[in-house]
Amino acid sequence: MSALLAAEELSFAYRSGEPILTEWSASFYSGETVAVTGPSGAGKSTLLYLLGLMLRPGAGQVLLEGEPVSDLPDARRADLRATEFGFVFQDAALDPTRTVIDNIAETALYRGQPRAQALAAAEVLMDRFGVGLRSRHRPGQISGGQAQRIALCRALLARPAIILADEPTGNLDPDTSRLVVSVLREHAAAGNSVIIVTHNHDIAAACDRIVEVSS
Ligand code: ADP
Repeated sequence: MSALLAAEELSFAYRSGEPILTEWSASFYSGETVAVTGPSGAGKSTLLYLLGLMLRPGAGQVLLEGEPVSDLPDARRADLRATEFGFVFQDAALDPTRTVIDNIAETALYRGQPRAQALAAAEVLMDRFGVGLRSRHRPGQISGGQAQRIALCRALLARPAIILADEPTGNLDPDTSRLVVSVLREHAAAGNSVIIVTHNHDIAAACDRIVEVSS
């Protein structure tokens, strides 16, 4: 079986600093949930930015369904980000000028889902994660844990082939954390790939596989 997403000998350094990743390789398959672990500062978030085509590697490449994509022009990479990836990041990057539900529906609308359908599906997801009452609020009026669940709803709604999640349960209570992981596992089981950066042993153990980033 060929990999849905692969990192091939990726190397990276921020302009200012030391190399963060050196010839780092891994393959991610459809149907699986993979935990990325490693010490703080080792480059796990940076790896997600590289896999998610937000940063370009200094050397090596990212392959999507076997095709090299990390060196494509910016517009093409932005298009792939919107169509193939869902992001659940710490700073959920919600638009503060729009309501929560509009933020959630944004990517699904971009992908051509009818508006009424996207909003109805967004409500169902928000209720499932206990943030339904916040749908008409603006992101400035919600907590970090709520923002995280909202980012998760947004990622899931568009049904992307790949979800990249950075400590998605960092601000959540144990019950909500378990719910988040089981929903991410369901998403993977539907033929997608889910990659989760986590320090939490229970979350890592609930994934199909663990890959390490070492400093
Ligand atoms: P992790 O997710 O494993 O904690 P990160 O990928 O966040 O690691 O960071 C790896 C290293 O890169 C750290 O030393 C961090 O300080 C540094 N770093 C992160 N982002 C930037 C940036 N935008 N510019 C320069 N250095 C950065």
